[in-house]
Amino acid sequence: MRWENLTDENEHGRAADAALFGADAVTVRTFDTPEFRGITFHEVRARSVLNRVPGASRMPFEWTVNPYRGCSHACVYCFARKTHSYLDLDTGIGFDTQIVVKVNAPEVLRRQLGSRRWQGDHVAMGTNVDCYQRAEGRYRLTPGIISALTDHANPFSILTKGTLILRDLDLLVRASEVTDVGISVSVGFLDTELWRTVEPGTPAPERRLDVVRALGEHGIGCGVLMAPVIPFLSDQPDRLRETVRAVAAAGATSVTPLVLHLRPGAREWFMAWLGRHHPYLVRRYERLYAEGAYAPRWYQRRITRQVHELAQEYGIGPTRAGQARRIRPAGPERAAAGAEPVQLSLM
Ligand code: SF4
Repeated sequence: MRWENLTDENEHGRAADAALFGADAVTVRTFDTPEFRGITFHEVRARSVLNRVPGASRMPFEWTVNPYRGCSHACVYCFARKTHSYLDLDTGIGFDTQIVVKVNAPEVLRRQLGSRRWQGDHVAMGTNVDCYQRAEGRYRLTPGIISALTDHANPFSILTKGTLILRDLDLLVRASEVTDVGISVSVGFLDTELWRTVEPGTPAPERRLDVVRALGEHGIGCGVLMAPVIPFLSDQPDRLRETVRAVAAAGATSVTPLVLHLRPGAREWFMAWLGRHHPYLVRRYERLYAEGAYAPRWYQRRITRQVHELAQEYGIGPTRAGQARRIRPAGPERAAAGAEPVQLSLM
C-alpha cells in the first residue's frame, strides 16, 4: 500500500493539500467478532482531518471531515470506491473490507478548529464515506468530532445511512443548542430485496426512517436524501410513491432525490452486480449511461419533478406543524437539491 506521502481524498477525487500519514503510522488490526469478521482495519495517525473541497466545486460546503476511508456498508454503487485505488487497495471488495481509520481524528480536529487561521466555516461529514459505518461502533471517533465542533460552536452537517447515529443523540441535541446542525439520512428506496443485494452492509431502509423519526422527536429536524434512485429498479411511479410516503410518515423535514451516478471505480463494480442480479438490464444501462457517469438530464429532471410532486402531496417540508427546529437541508442535501449533478457517495 502507498502510505508514504499519502494525501487524503475529497469528494471530487482530487487530493487535498496536506499529507496525512507517515509511512510508519499504520497499524493493521482484525477483530474476531461476528460484526467485524473479514474486515481489516488500518489505523493511521492523521496530520490533518479538515479537507478542503476545491473552489470550483458545486458543493455548498467547503470543508469536510472523514475519519474513515472505505466503508463496510458496502453499497455496490458507492462512488467513493475509486478513492481506495489511491492506496493501492481494491475498489471492489477491498473498499468494503479494508477500512482506514484515522484514530486521532478528534484530537487533530480540535487542534485545527482552535487555530487562529480557522474561520469557523461549515464542516460536512458523511460526504465521502459513512462516519456511522460499523467501524464507528468500535472506534467511537464521531462523538469526539461532534464534541470538538460543539465546543467551538462550529456549524456542521452529517449525512448517514447508519442507525448508530442515535448513540450520539445527546451530543447532537447539545450541538444544536449552540450551532447549526444539519442531519440527513439516506434512503433511496424501500424494496427489501433490492436493499439486501445493492446495500448489503447497511441498516434496512425502515430502520433508517426510524432514525429520522427519533431525531425529530428529540427536536432535531432530519432531511432524507433519496439516493440513489436506481433506474428501472426503484424509479417506477409506485415505488417512488411508497418511498416518499414513508419518508413523510417518518417526519422528514425534506426529501431530495438523487439519481444513481456511476463514476469509474463504482461503475465496473455496479455493472458486474447488475449482470449477476438483473442481466436483462445491462443493455439499457449501457444506453442510459452512454455519455458518462450521469444519467441524461431529461431523466434526472423527470425523477426530480416526480419526487417533488409527491413530497408536496404528502406534505413534506419545513412548514409542517410540530416539526423540529432545524429545518434547512443539510449541506449534502442542499448540494443534491440543485439541478446539477453532484458527486456525493450516494450515501
Ligand atoms: S454509499 Fe455511503 S454508506 Fe454506502 S458504502 Fe458508500 S459511503 Fe458507505
